[in-house]
Amino acid sequence: MQAKGSKLWASALNDAAPTPFWTDRPERPTPTDPLTTATQADLAVIGGGYSGLWTALLAKERDPGTDVVLVESALCGHAASGRNGGFCAASLTHGLANGMERFPDEIAQLERMGRDNLDDIEDAIRRYGIDCDFERTGEMEVATAPHELEWLQESHEGAVELGYRSELFDAGQVQNMVHSPTYLGGWWDRDGVAMLDPARLAWGLRRACLEAGVRIYEGTPVQRISKSHGGALTLHTPHGEVRAPRVALCTSAFQGPLAKVSRHVVPVYDYALMTEPLTPEQLDSIGWGRHRMGLGDASYRFHYYRLTGDNRILFGGYDAIYHFGGRVSPSLEYNEATFETLSQHFFQTFPQLDGLRFTHRWGGIIDTCGRFCAFFGSAYKGRLVYAAGYTGLGVGATRFGAEVMLDQLYGLDTERTRLRMVRSRPLPLPPEPLRSAGINLTRWSLARADSHQGRRNLWLKAMDATGLGFDS
Ligand SMILES: Cc1cc2nc3c(=O)[nH]c(=O)nc-3n(C[C@H](O)[C@H](O)[C@H](O)COP(=O)(O)OP(=O)(O)OC[C@H]3O[C@@H](n4cnc5c(N)ncnc54)[C@H](O)[C@@H]3O)c2cc1C
Repeated sequence: MQAKGSKLWASALNDAAPTPFWTDRPERPTPTDPLTTATQADLAVIGGGYSGLWTALLAKERDPGTDVVLVESALCGHAASGRNGGFCAASLTHGLANGMERFPDEIAQLERMGRDNLDDIEDAIRRYGIDCDFERTGEMEVATAPHELEWLQESHEGAVELGYRSELFDAGQVQNMVHSPTYLGGWWDRDGVAMLDPARLAWGLRRACLEAGVRIYEGTPVQRISKSHGGALTLHTPHGEVRAPRVALCTSAFQGPLAKVSRHVVPVYDYALMTEPLTPEQLDSIGWGRHRMGLGDASYRFHYYRLTGDNRILFGGYDAIYHFGGRVSPSLEYNEATFETLSQHFFQTFPQLDGLRFTHRWGGIIDTCGRFCAFFGSAYKGRLVYAAGYTGLGVGATRFGAEVMLDQLYGLDTERTRLRMVRSRPLPLPPEPLRSAGINLTRWSLARADSHQGRRNLWLKAMDATGLGFDS
């Protein structure tokens, strides 16, 4: 549906700044000085997204005497961690359905640990006084095509079995809560997801790290790692180096200094729009202001959307774009065609918001892997560990991943390190040109499945059989 037959969606984008809304604010911290000397630490962390920041902070919480250095190539939180949708989910497995399918024997345990992890995030935000608009509203998944109703039913049943506060709604009920003519049903997981301001979380964790005594060096890319005498590792950066016996590699989808991580991770671009703040009347017209839960549709190519603290709407997802050879570049964060598609879908979802304008549009990189949830590994005889592959659901799960990495670095045998999810790894993705051919065929097949009652074609069934997939 195109509102009033006009190119409304295109003109709504006219004044949208090509930069993430969340980081485009005056409280953005001033970068620290880069590393310009040779230094030593007990623990070195590479990368200043949530993964690296939680690892550094939790290491200090476990033992305040640990000397921790964190090196970040740009500014902490400049990448995915400062520009995401802000859905902080308890799920460690990219959703309950993916977890039930891949780890049926330990899904109850994973879910319990995921809920505890979300509670711990909420507790840390309070303890450190991080002002990031944390709202534990839950998330409602909506069906916009009849075949998706069955999927919602299955998710609801799985959630009830696990004892969650879960509710299922028919079209009338869900439209009564959030007034979109596109909704045919809804499943609301009331406690398993919180909405938050992603950049303020990253900046708050950065401040907490600094206050705990973590030495942070921004503008400091690690170019190479080498072994030093006595079993330590040395991180080489343009103007200095860090020597440490333990290293956590938290570089997500970026081509980091350890090539073997990239065999399992592909950088995929995901995009989002932010509207101007809604007036009370506009908010009233969509009915969403009462519960404020995050929303996502159940399609394979799904949208996610949420209200901000000042009642803007963030609307993202749908397209997930991989570039040949895993190309990563700031120029790829801007994609006019995807922004127009998102804008068009926004006004189809809420036609009553005709006239609303977008203030920001941006993209960022997701570290997708074949099983859609984090995997863990080590190198240099266990002196370096890494976690990657969170796909599009790392806001909450990276804290759990940080705990796993610290357990592994300190040789601890814990409930976490014994998980099959932690001990197993996804299949490596094939090299180019097979990699992009496979990803593009999968994207095409998923789009086709969405318009063919969710039916998976032979290619998707073959991928299911091997345990490989593509998601955002
Ligand atoms: C548009 C978008 C929307 C998303 N929405 C959601 C959502 O709503 N909910 C959710 O759960 N997840 C979402 N995600 C995913 C989520 O943001 C990520 O899973 C999470 O931020 C990953 O954190 P990270 O620390 O692993 O990675 P990053 O935040 O990418 O951090 C990695 C850091 O490593 C640094 N680095 C890389 N190489 C080097 C090097 N050689 N030396 C030093 N530093 C280096 C980078 O500069 C970067 O700062 C979204 C992602 C995007 C892009």
